[in-house]
Amino acid sequence: MQKSEKFRTFTPMKARFAPSPTARMHLGNVFCALLSWLSIKSRQGSWLLRIEDLDPDRSRREYADHIMRDLEWLGLTWDEGPYYQSERHSLYAEALEKLKAAGLVYPCFCTRADIMATQAPHESDGRIVYAGTCRARPFIEKDLERAAVRLRVPDEEIRFTDGHYGPQSVNLSRHCGDFIIRRKDGAWGYQLAVVVDDTSMGITEVVRGRDLLLSSPQQIYVARLLGCEPPSFTHLPLLCNAAGQRLSKRDHGIDMEYLRATYSAGEIIGRLAWMAGILSLPRPVSPEELIPLFRWDKVPTEDHLTFSMR
Ligand code: GLU
Repeated sequence: MQKSEKFRTFTPMKARFAPSPTARMHLGNVFCALLSWLSIKSRQGSWLLRIEDLDPDRSRREYADHIMRDLEWLGLTWDEGPYYQSERHSLYAEALEKLKAAGLVYPCFCTRADIMATQAPHESDGRIVYAGTCRARPFIEKDLERAAVRLRVPDEEIRFTDGHYGPQSVNLSRHCGDFIIRRKDGAWGYQLAVVVDDTSMGITEVVRGRDLLLSSPQQIYVARLLGCEPPSFTHLPLLCNAAGQRLSKRDHGIDMEYLRATYSAGEIIGRLAWMAGILSLPRPVSPEELIPLFRWDKVPTEDHLTFSMR
């Protein structure tokens, strides 16, 4: 048998790192990047970089450049990309056309205040469940150009198995309601763009923080509507500060500017690998050295991990 025949049916394993260039990376982002990189490299797959600069008000090219320089400095090199979502509008527009043709979208004129007014008190945990107010309006296609565009969701459970947190079942009508796939100002919604990109880029595995775990059923739903195979989803514990809050830009000493001035790349990678259960003690190490040591069953399944560089 010829070598080319042997590999003909093989689907290459591919993961991606998809940062939004709205700030310099911090340790939480690096933790996701490292584990996504290790997960795919430990199975000889490739790693793609996609810059999610959908929001023109918050995205900056200089942050994208910083992210790339920081990844290189850490030794987390990518095999494909960078791709920029801001250069892929026509693909998102094509997907919207498909959903429109299937009668699954409608224009929404609700303001944030209208939406908040429909929230029952028990839903006010930060999550907004859209009550479907504009679903009932007569459909006027032209309105799609001057309003937000929402995608109808069914009142049924979407089931999937997270690679780290196990079986999940989410009813989108209760979890989020019909969701926005294009904002009123024309900016594409994350849930649509990410599905178009993951499926068209041949991504087989998504690894990211568990704050996005409940975005996965939305993405599985959109992929199905577009007739595409969704990737597998594996979520990670979130890194928290000593007060138990998720690490954010407000925490001192965790952004890459400070870290690069204070520690070596090996020290940062070693500390994160220790948090992830891959090293028994923190020590300076390169991502490459961790590849043979990586296994998902070593990574803790708590929702949060308390982080400190000391
Ligand atoms: N761009 C998103 C973020 O930086 C991540 C999206 C994803 O991994 O699906 O939070």
